[in-house]
Amino acid sequence: MNMLSPLSPSLASADQSLVDGVLARQLRPLAKTITLIESQREDHKVRAQQVLEALLPHTGGAMRVGISGVPGVGKSTFIEALGLYLIEQGLRVAVLAVDPSSSVTGGSILGDKTRMELLSQNPAAFIRPSPSACSLGGVAEKTRETLLACEAAGFDVIVVETVGVGQSETAVAGMTDIFCLLQLPNAGDDLQAIKKGIMEIADLIVINKADIDAGAAMRAKSQIKTALHMLRPASPNWTVPVLTLSALHKQGVADFWQAVCDYRTALTASGEFAAKRRHQALAWMWEMIDSGLRSRFRSHPRVREDLPTLARAVEEGSTTPAAAAFRLLGHLEHNAQN
Ligand code: GDP
Repeated sequence: MNMLSPLSPSLASADQSLVDGVLARQLRPLAKTITLIESQREDHKVRAQQVLEALLPHTGGAMRVGISGVPGVGKSTFIEALGLYLIEQGLRVAVLAVDPSSSVTGGSILGDKTRMELLSQNPAAFIRPSPSACSLGGVAEKTRETLLACEAAGFDVIVVETVGVGQSETAVAGMTDIFCLLQLPNAGDDLQAIKKGIMEIADLIVINKADIDAGAAMRAKSQIKTALHMLRPASPNWTVPVLTLSALHKQGVADFWQAVCDYRTALTASGEFAAKRRHQALAWMWEMIDSGLRSRFRSHPRVREDLPTLARAVEEGSTTPAAAAFRLLGHLEHNAQN
């Protein structure tokens, strides 16, 4: 795993010019850096880590906002409205996506150029579709690194969008400062979110399309508030707000951003904001260690040799799972001693 050597040697001149370009806030070097980050080639992986290490001291300055919701809830309409609002306030906005289905389908979010048309044409915005990797872990890892590159490029707000499927929400909540859940104003929707455990990780809930039926939106709001009372709050210093909004008519966008700023203020005062980032960085490291160990284990020649026989023995009950695991893991140790 020398690719993850933390103390990188000096950069090759091509990579140094990428770093310089990113720090000079130029979009082409940023896009090239992200392409390097997303590459599956081993030599590119090494270079990407070196570039990222050079950028790392310049990261951390953005507000990282996670946005989730089922397809059709209005995520892209909302992100465009939010992005244009923030640009009006003089901020620069990057939009990234975590879509684990992208390697299979070619991407259900952000792949379509017509999404966020106005935002994508704005020079203060940078929109990047989901990386395609074979696993959610791979997609999440590349998006985290892309997020850091965008921060080094001076973006003030980084929105990470995800679809309401599987574990992608947890992954996005694990890389952002505030995780926002978009909901539709119909009853039942909120209950589904609770069942899936998503509401527990939401720091802010938005009921979109309130323009269609304001009464229904208000009912959904009070239902969700009641449901939230039953959950243990993630922070004693933050009560999850439930906002109603119309992304289409750009109503409620300023209130949304105010709530995000309030969150940052409250958690910064309590020290939780920085603590959350520290915790996320460590959790990321452990995730990388876990997946690195797992892949080293699976590719170890002695493990590959013994695994089928031992797996069969466990199935047949002729050896215990613990004994089999112990023997297989022993191969790794043996390797490390040599
Ligand atoms: P996504 O799949 O979550 O990204 O949803 P989209 O942003 O593509 O929106 C899906 C549909 O809902 C589009 O036809 C939007 O125009 C519409 N839509 C989004 N926000 C609103 C809203 O606030 N009110 C209304 N009436 N329609 C909306």
